[in-house]
Amino acid sequence: MTKKQRLKELQIELERLTNSPLYGYRKKNNYKPVLGNGSLKAGIMFVGEAPGRNEAEAGKPFCGVSGKRLDSILKTALLPREEVYITNIVNDRPPKNRKPTKAEIALYAPFLLNQMQIIKPRVIVTLGATSVNFFLEKFNLKTLKVMSKLRENFFELSFSFGKVFLVPTFHPSYLTYRPEKKVVLLQDIKKAKSLLKKN
Ligand code: URA
Repeated sequence: MTKKQRLKELQIELERLTNSPLYGYRKKNNYKPVLGNGSLKAGIMFVGEAPGRNEAEAGKPFCGVSGKRLDSILKTALLPREEVYITNIVNDRPPKNRKPTKAEIALYAPFLLNQMQIIKPRVIVTLGATSVNFFLEKFNLKTLKVMSKLRENFFELSFSFGKVFLVPTFHPSYLTYRPEKKVVLLQDIKKAKSLLKKN
């Protein structure tokens, strides 16, 4: 099966996820589930938290305000969005953009891990705490550090398909309160680009 076919199968599985606590909210609002999208050959995968309203209406990740911010930073970093793959920890919009629960994160985890198996990224950039914590918990690397400390390091993680560098950074929504952090996000994305050359 091609990568495209495998992603299509995942999409169908996601559409049928009737046991999700977010399924009723999806249907009631006529929302779509949001699998990742981007280059099937991407070396860098971005992982956010969960779709917002724009994303759930369009069925595409990061196409609202946060997405526009991310696009602008990617452009400055000379990393075209078409060359990366962008996805989320949870693939349905939680009501009022609340944080996904532990149970929701666990339910949607196979979708993320399957997308990783298909794309085989060499670098993952986690956007925000929910995303980095998913990986830190999975690898028993739980730390008590705040994002400003976490982002000073990167992690080397071992997956069945190979080694992955994990680059933690802020979620673009953080820029609403701290616009000056845009340079920090840019630095981190440049770091991800340079790690790609080493892996
Ligand atoms: N925020 C996220 O974490 N993901 C999206 O897709 C959009 C906004």
